[in-house]
Amino acid sequence: IDGTTLIDANKKRGLFRFAFTEDGAASESTYEIVDLSGYSEVKYIRGRFLGKGGNAKCYEVTQEGSNKALACKIVRKNMRIIGKELLNEQEIPEIRIHRNVKHPNIVDFHSYFEDDRFIYILLELCENESLLQLSQKRGAITEPEVRYFLRQILEGVKYLHEEEKIIHRDLKLGNIFITSGMKLKIGDFGLATELESEDRKYVGTPNYIAPEIVERIGYDCKADIWSIGCLLYALLIGKPPFESESLKQTYKKIKAADYEIPEGTNLSLEATRLIHQCLQLDPSKRPTAREILMDDFITEYFIPDSLPEISLTSAPSRP
Ligand code: ADP
Repeated sequence: IDGTTLIDANKKRGLFRFAFTEDGAASESTYEIVDLSGYSEVKYIRGRFLGKGGNAKCYEVTQEGSNKALACKIVRKNMRIIGKELLNEQEIPEIRIHRNVKHPNIVDFHSYFEDDRFIYILLELCENESLLQLSQKRGAITEPEVRYFLRQILEGVKYLHEEEKIIHRDLKLGNIFITSGMKLKIGDFGLATELESEDRKYVGTPNYIAPEIVERIGYDCKADIWSIGCLLYALLIGKPPFESESLKQTYKKIKAADYEIPEGTNLSLEATRLIHQCLQLDPSKRPTAREILMDDFITEYFIPDSLPEISLTSAPSRP
């Protein structure tokens, strides 16, 4: 990231102009991201490094003159699409999908801008990392805590499936972020996709629609339910269900739904049953997010209203 570029981020509408500048001589951490949207210039000062993913680096940024911090995900363009000079919004499904969703359990999409090399996505800042770090520090966590987390994940997924017809397709501990208030937010829509809804494709009467098309819509969402089964297992047991020495072996286990609850773990019957229901090879047999929310595991036992930050590193004394 170097030099100064000024670029029209949305040529079609011609409404926004954005710029990214860098204090060339100074160290990396002093550069600013400038967003010239509308009439007033908005400057973002880059703060600490938050983490990196497959094709993104993430920094904390603060809008100049305010103390509201955001997360800025910086995606290098040529890693997404090679051979094209400028990506427009239509070509970045992650942005198209993420900017249109709004839910308390989904990372809030603030705005985005771009220069010729990078796309900058401004997101709600999740200060307490993700469930991956929590799980690494804690190992297996208690069932009341798992219920507290699972309910929030399910609320977010139910919203995506039912209201937005979106499948996330990459639900994993590292993509479930934790805010300073210990609320969960689903993030990273890099692999998300929109369902081909029958009413979007078939305007008019559905007289000629094949049953497998109608069925498929229900099936596709069930990929996320499988992932929820894996999340549930990982939180309760402290390691993922199909972990093995080699990638090949892991795939083999997944394809056979071959996992075990290790001996000596005292999982409740309800937790064990729910894992089994989500990790079924036949997608139609897996419950929906709505159904899991009504499962005994969630409804019949204690769920804390909030969790203290100490839960990030150690088990609460009175769960
Ligand atoms: P990728 O699509 O490359 O996997 P991610 O969306 O997973 O990128 O982001 C990469 C890393 O940036 C994450 O692992 C996390 O450490 C950090 N990160 C991403 N989004 C946020 C956020 N909203 N708040 C805080 N940290 C974030």
